[in-house]
Amino acid sequence: MAQADIALIGLAVMGQNLILNMNDHGFVVCAFNRTVSKVDDFLANEAKGTKVLGAHSLEEMASKLKKPRRIILLVKAGQAVDDFIEKLVPLLDIGDIIIDGGNSEYRDTMRRCRDLKEKGILFVGSGVSGGEDGARYGPSLMPGGNKEAWPHIKAIFQGIAAKVGTGEPCCDWVGDEGAGHFVKMVHNGIEYGDMQLICEAYHLMRDVLCMGHAEMAKAFEEWNKTELDSFLIEITANILKFQDADGKHLLPKIRDSAGQKGTGKWTAISALEYGVPVTLIGEAVFARCLSSLKDERIQASKKLKGPQNVPFEGDKKSFLEDIRKALYASKIISYAQGFMLLRQAATEFGWTLNYGGIALMWRGGCIIRSVFLGKIKDAFDRNPGLQNLLLDDFFKSAVENCQDSWRRAISTGVQAGIPMPCFTTALSFYDGYRHEMLPANLIQAQRDYFGAHTYELLAKPGQFIHTNWTGHG
Ligand code: NAP
Repeated sequence: MAQADIALIGLAVMGQNLILNMNDHGFVVCAFNRTVSKVDDFLANEAKGTKVLGAHSLEEMASKLKKPRRIILLVKAGQAVDDFIEKLVPLLDIGDIIIDGGNSEYRDTMRRCRDLKEKGILFVGSGVSGGEDGARYGPSLMPGGNKEAWPHIKAIFQGIAAKVGTGEPCCDWVGDEGAGHFVKMVHNGIEYGDMQLICEAYHLMRDVLCMGHAEMAKAFEEWNKTELDSFLIEITANILKFQDADGKHLLPKIRDSAGQKGTGKWTAISALEYGVPVTLIGEAVFARCLSSLKDERIQASKKLKGPQNVPFEGDKKSFLEDIRKALYASKIISYAQGFMLLRQAATEFGWTLNYGGIALMWRGGCIIRSVFLGKIKDAFDRNPGLQNLLLDDFFKSAVENCQDSWRRAISTGVQAGIPMPCFTTALSFYDGYRHEMLPANLIQAQRDYFGAHTYELLAKPGQFIHTNWTGHG
C-alpha cells in the first residue's frame, strides 16, 4: 500500500541522517540501499522506533510511495547516480520526481534533467551541505532542475532545512537544470577560500606574532564576536584549544598536507572556463596542492633561503587587528568573486538566480554559515540587480575601513616571508577591479606585435587596428 511520502536511496552517513531528519518532521520515508542488508540494519538500529519504512527492492520501494513519487538519491556521485536512474525509470510514472542530493557535477545534472524530461520524469539536482550533522538537524539545501517538481517537494525540503532569523529556511528553489549543483559547487569553492584565509591569519599569528595556542584560540573567539562570526572561525578556536591525551596541543602534530575531493577545483575550472576572475578560490586550491608537496618542501626548506627571522617590533595588539581586518576584507573579495561566477553562469545557461536567496541558503546549516551572509542577503535585497558586491555601500565601506590594515598585514607578512596566497590575491583583485586603467594596453600591443592580433584605441572603440611595429614590410 502506498504510504510513504518520499523514498531515499543510499544509506551511508548522509542518507541515514537525512531520513531521520525527515522522520522528525513528520514525513514517512521509505529507505533503500544497493547493499540491501543495510536497510534491515538501519531499521533495527538507527531508525528503530521511527515511522521509517524499508524496501528490499526498487519495485517494493516504488509500490510504497504516494504519487507523484518522490525519490531522493544520496549515493556516491557519478556512475552510481546514472545506474539508479536507469533502474528507476521503468518503475515510475509520468510526473514522478527523482532528486539527486549527492555532490554531482552540474553538467551531469543538466544532462540527467534533459534526458528525464523527455521521459516525463521531473529531475532535481540538489546541493546538500552541512555534513552529517547538517543532514540530521538542518542542512542547507540548494535544489535546482525541473521547476515543476518544486511544489511537490517544497514542504519537505523547507521543513527539514536549517532555519535562521525568524525561522526562514536555508532552502529555496535555485534555478533550472544544473543551477542547484552549480551553486553547491561555488559554495564548496568558497569554503576552500574561507578555510585558507583562516590558515593565513593563523600563520601570521603563529610565525610573525609568535602567539601560543591558547592566545590564538582566544583571538579567534574574540573575532567570532565581530563581523567574522561564523562556524569556521568558531571551530578554529576549538581546534587551537584542543589538547591531545598527553596534554599537548594536537594541531602542531598534524601533518601540514591538505587533502581535497575536487569541488574547489571544479569551481576554479568553471571560473577559467567562463572567464571570471575567481582568483581567491583558485589560490586556495593551489595552496592545498602546494601543501601536499610535503616531501619536496622538506628538501626545498633546506636549500631555499627567505628573509632573516626578525622579531616583530610593532604593536602586537594593533597588528592582530590588522590581520583580522585583512581576513574580513579578503573574505568580502572571495564572496564578491563567487557571486560574479554565479552571475556569469546564469548568463551562460539562461538561469534566473535569486542571489539574495542563495546567500540565505548559505546563512545557516552549511560549513560556510556566517552572520556575514546575512549582510550579503541584505545587499541583494537592497538591489537585486547588484552587479558586484563591492559596489554595495555596506561592503564598499567595509573594505575601505579595512584597507590600511589589510595592506599592513600583507606587507609585514611579505617582509617576514610568510606565504599568503589568498590575502594577496584578494588585494590584487581589489586593486585591479578599482583601476580604470590597467597595463593590459601593453598586452594588446605585444599580441599585435608578435601575432598581428590587432588592438583598439581608447579613442576609437570597436575599431581594430594592426600596426607594423618593426617597420619591416
Ligand atoms: P558515499 O560514501 O558518497 O556513498 C555511499 C553510498 O553510495 C552507499 O549507499 C553505497 O551503497 C552507494 N554506492 C556507492 N557506489 C555505488 C554504486 N556503484 N552503485 C550503487 N550505489 C552505490 O556516502 P555519503 O558520504 O553519505 O554521501 C552521499 C552523497 O552526498 C555523495 O554524493 C556525497 O558527495 C554527498 N555529500 C556528502 C557529504 C558528507 O559530509 N559526507 C556532504 C554533502 C554531500 P552500498 O552501501 O551498497 O555501498
